[in-house]
Amino acid sequence: MHLARFPRVRLFPTPTPLERLDNLTKALGGPEIWIKRDDCTVVATGGNKVRKLEWLIGEAREQGATHIVTQGAVQSNHVRQTAAVARKFGMRCTALLEHRIDTNDRDYLGSGNVLLDKLFGCAIEYRAGGLDMNAEAEKKGEELRKAGEKAYVIPGGGSNRVGALGYVSCAQELLQQADEMGLKIDRIVSATGSAGTHAGLVVGLEGCNANIPVLGIGVRLPRDRQEANVHRLAEATAEYVGMTGGVRREAVVANCDYVGEGYGIPTEGMGEAVKMLAREEGILLDPVYSGKAMAGMIDLIRKGEIKAGERVVFLHTGGAVGLFGYTPFLEGIA
Ligand SMILES: *Cc1c(COP(=O)(O)O)cnc(C)c1O
Repeated sequence: MHLARFPRVRLFPTPTPLERLDNLTKALGGPEIWIKRDDCTVVATGGNKVRKLEWLIGEAREQGATHIVTQGAVQSNHVRQTAAVARKFGMRCTALLEHRIDTNDRDYLGSGNVLLDKLFGCAIEYRAGGLDMNAEAEKKGEELRKAGEKAYVIPGGGSNRVGALGYVSCAQELLQQADEMGLKIDRIVSATGSAGTHAGLVVGLEGCNANIPVLGIGVRLPRDRQEANVHRLAEATAEYVGMTGGVRREAVVANCDYVGEGYGIPTEGMGEAVKMLAREEGILLDPVYSGKAMAGMIDLIRKGEIKAGERVVFLHTGGAVGLFGYTPFLEGIA
């Protein structure tokens, strides 16, 4: 794989930190826990979408785009990061926000990510829950093209073969970083949602024959659908980067037992995980993705499925801005 063949913009210094979590490791008494700080990707308070946007905005610039269109839930971290990067490159941004959660909560609807979207000058349109949101974004793009704009449409979560390059590159970065530190990684754990992060990581690791398993903790779909989505995107990404032989289906593993009632709906385990990382390590997780992923990892450690003696790297995908969309829940547990 030779990623320099693809257009890219640079948005943050690499590598992002790779740190050992001594207090959490001690508190759980299981594996040695490390964290890859992709919450530290600088732009608009950071997060995993910034990595994908290096490649997506790279392509948009190459095509002469004037206007970025994307979509997400009301508290979408992806939309917040996209709105900021678009401005940095002088492009306008329109976001379609889906009412994916049935709530009247003032903070959910007006604070956190959506407040920052407005600050970045993003044009916001709302949609009812349950629509095909990528199709809605394509329609919006068409509308803008008819009005004379050069619209570039980014799918939800920036998850297509272009955005996934961000995590192919992250896998390479992590391997090099671990090799330099002499850190032998037994397993990588990450939240998995719109699939680009998980798919990119798998392609990057498979492409290097790293033999490090990735466990995706699902935040929305049941396991069979999540794994199928990730594998489909991994195959498309592998083909795009010219990796021969495809991606083994067994290389894509998701555990979707920690979703709770649904996407973006708090769980007790998420609350415990957010509080634990804050108090043991001074690290902020988020309520929708990294909090549920960490809740899953903590539970799997307690059950002995992730074993003492292993070295696990948890990928911190960011999202702490979303905490401010969940004030009543967090006040209840803090
Ligand atoms: C989008 C997001 C994820 C999930 O990444 P995908 O590539 O959509 O699977 C995880 N954590 C945070 C904080 C996110 O914003």
